Amino acid sequence: MLVGSVALTLGLLVLVWWVSWQRLEAERQLLDQNARVQQENLAAIIAENLSQVFDRGRLMSIAANEWFEGNRINATQRLSAMRAADRAFLRIALYDRVAQRVYSSSPSIDTPGPAVSLLRPRLAAALPAEVMVGERPASPEHAWQLPLFFPVTAADGRLHGVLLVVLDLGYFLALYQDIDIGRSGIIRLLKADGEPLAEARQAGLVLDAPTGERIVPGGARQGSLHGRFFEPGRLYLSSFRQLDRHPFTVTVSRAVDETLAAHLASRARFLGVLAALSGLLAVAAFWFIRSLGRQGRLLSALAAADVEKRELIVQLEEEKRRAFALAAHDHLTGLPNRRMFHELVVSHLSRAKRSRKYYVLMYLDLDRFKGINDTLGHHVGDLLLQAVAERLRGCLRESDVIARLGGDEFGLLLTGLENIDDSATVAAKLVEQVSLPCIDLDGNDIQISPSIGIAIYPRDGDDFETLCRHADAAMYRAKHAGRGRFCYFDPTLNQIGERLFNLEQRLPRALAGNELLLHFQPLVRLTDFRVVGFEALLRWQHPDFGLIYPADFVPLAENAGFIAAIGDWVIAACCRQQAEWQAAGLELVPLACNISASQLHDEDLPRRVAERLAEHGVDGRHLAIEITESSLLASPVVAGRVLRCLEALGIGIALDDFGNGFSHLANIRHLPIHYLKIDRAFISDIRNRPDDAVIVASIITLAHNLEMQVVAEGVEMLDQLVHLKTAGCDTVQGYYLSRPVEAAAARHFLIHPILNPA
Ligand code: C2E
Ligand code: MG
Ligand code: MG
Repeated sequence: MLVGSVALTLGLLVLVWWVSWQRLEAERQLLDQNARVQQENLAAIIAENLSQVFDRGRLMSIAANEWFEGNRINATQRLSAMRAADRAFLRIALYDRVAQRVYSSSPSIDTPGPAVSLLRPRLAAALPAEVMVGERPASPEHAWQLPLFFPVTAADGRLHGVLLVVLDLGYFLALYQDIDIGRSGIIRLLKADGEPLAEARQAGLVLDAPTGERIVPGGARQGSLHGRFFEPGRLYLSSFRQLDRHPFTVTVSRAVDETLAAHLASRARFLGVLAALSGLLAVAAFWFIRSLGRQGRLLSALAAADVEKRELIVQLEEEKRRAFALAAHDHLTGLPNRRMFHELVVSHLSRAKRSRKYYVLMYLDLDRFKGINDTLGHHVGDLLLQAVAERLRGCLRESDVIARLGGDEFGLLLTGLENIDDSATVAAKLVEQVSLPCIDLDGNDIQISPSIGIAIYPRDGDDFETLCRHADAAMYRAKHAGRGRFCYFDPTLNQIGERLFNLEQRLPRALAGNELLLHFQPLVRLTDFRVVGFEALLRWQHPDFGLIYPADFVPLAENAGFIAAIGDWVIAACCRQQAEWQAAGLELVPLACNISASQLHDEDLPRRVAERLAEHGVDGRHLAIEITESSLLASPVVAGRVLRCLEALGIGIALDDFGNGFSHLANIRHLPIHYLKIDRAFISDIRNRPDDAVIVASIITLAHNLEMQVVAEGVEMLDQLVHLKTAGCDTVQGYYLSRPVEAAAARHFLIHPILNPA
């Protein structure tokens, strides 16, 4: 920017000066040219006039010839008449070959002697062909007289004599005095060799012999030259012109400085103004550049300050972050503290509002911790708190939150639970884990139990404060109820824990004591509304709690390691049922049973299934299994092997609850899967949520491309059914067509297999 400004200013100045200089030069050359033309014209006029004078002199010499031819009177008369008529000539005289004067217009005046003596030998020896210039008289009063000698020759070329004509230079040059050639103007008459004969200035005729350098025109007859001819150091422009018929040259000279005086004055004025303007511009540029420089320095100072400020902000933020981290965590356990817990829970709850899942807030307090602190010392108490924190961490998932709220109190948030019962499972696990003895805490083995209070979002409160208050209240209830246990804020939920405990205890007896049974839900083909299969759904007829659904005890059975036995029971029950219907002569449709993850990874399963089929004489085609995406995860390779063995038995394989799992259709396409069951979560809102409708449509298309049949689960309404039919779904299952029913009712469907949706 700075360099640019300097360059621009300089460039501008140079341009202005260059243009001005060019203009002044052009003007000067024009003036010079004008002066040259004027001077050359004047020289031409004078030369012409002089030529005429000489011509008249020659004419007289012709008249003088008569005198030598004998006609003396006539000649004398003509000569004196011609002289009288011409004011340029002062007098004339005629000399014969021996330089004797034979006629004179003014006899009283003596002939300029030196001229005649000079003439005499030349007259005797040779013929002067041209006019000759005699010497000008030395006396000042005759100084303007220029003697000219014209030869007088006979017709045959013989020289008779010579005619002296005295030219009045004063008269001649006075003719041009009115022409303004300036104060320095000089008119000269030169001989052929350049010697000046006469000179006229504005003041008049110069009588002294002209001084200065000779003007040597060179070979040219006319033209102009520059030179310091008259005064040293003063330049003159001299224009010259040779006479046409006579050996003389006229020069007109004028000092250049005078010709250009007006121009030089205006040029000096102009250059002065220009110099002043340039100076001003330079000063302005200097100030501008200086202020730019100052501004630049200011800007860089500002930038530096800005950088410094940013660094300071970063530093401050870093310090703030560190301070926050320090302030947000409990230094003893490294867990978030109460403040951080508040922030984390609030942010989770804001997400929970958009989810259909449960969020569970727990307060956990160690029973009789104060006693440990008092008896064994704070140091041991601290170690115990650290051990408890470690165990809590071990019981929860990454996504859950654990914090130490102060003293022996911990806060926990379980996130995204599918159902409330899961919270009881986790709470039971927490009680169990925390209650395990802590070995060698500074040499002490300590066993301590926790009391846990549970509040559930959204049923017990939908903000942090309410949930905390309720969890706290529930925790005090747990303490009052005898410690080492968990309590829900909602008292009705408290039975869950007890019930779960009871169920788990009773599971083995249920299996042995025939408390399990199957319900059957028909799968209906959409093209003709024919029952094309059943799903066998497990039930537990509990002597105290009545009919229990699989969601309430299958997870327990899975945790307790009972599921394999239960699964075998289900398969056997299915085969038995099919055999029974077969024996009754009914046309069988495939009966699908649900398989847990552990069963799917049991490589002995296909053998046992084959055994059951054979035992009851049922074809593999009449059995199907349903697996979930998550059950494949543990070992897809083993699961794949088991599935292929089952497929080999003719058993149909369905992928259950599809859509809410993790796999892509691409991941399962290597597996032998014949049916895809779309999870009912997508079906329930299929009419209202465009997203779900799009997902369902694309699942149907993709499944068909992979040559799978599509079953939609959870169809509860006619318009869901219509939508699915339009979307190309093959089969539906749901309360709209039939709830899961007992064997007797299922038998009815086999007899009347068409279900009319209307
Ligand atoms: P699932 O395999 O997806 O079974 C379908 C569930 O959806 C059944 O619940 C059924 O009653 C329910 N259902 C059917 N139509 C509708 C409908 O229109 N609306 C609604 N809201 N629900 C409908 P159920 O019988 O409670 O079974 C729940 C889950 O328990 C089953 O889901 C399955 O994963 C599991 N399960 C059932 N029987 C067994 C079994 O023998 N062994 C194992 N391991 N799991 C089983
Ligand atoms: Mg199923
Ligand atoms: Mg399902």
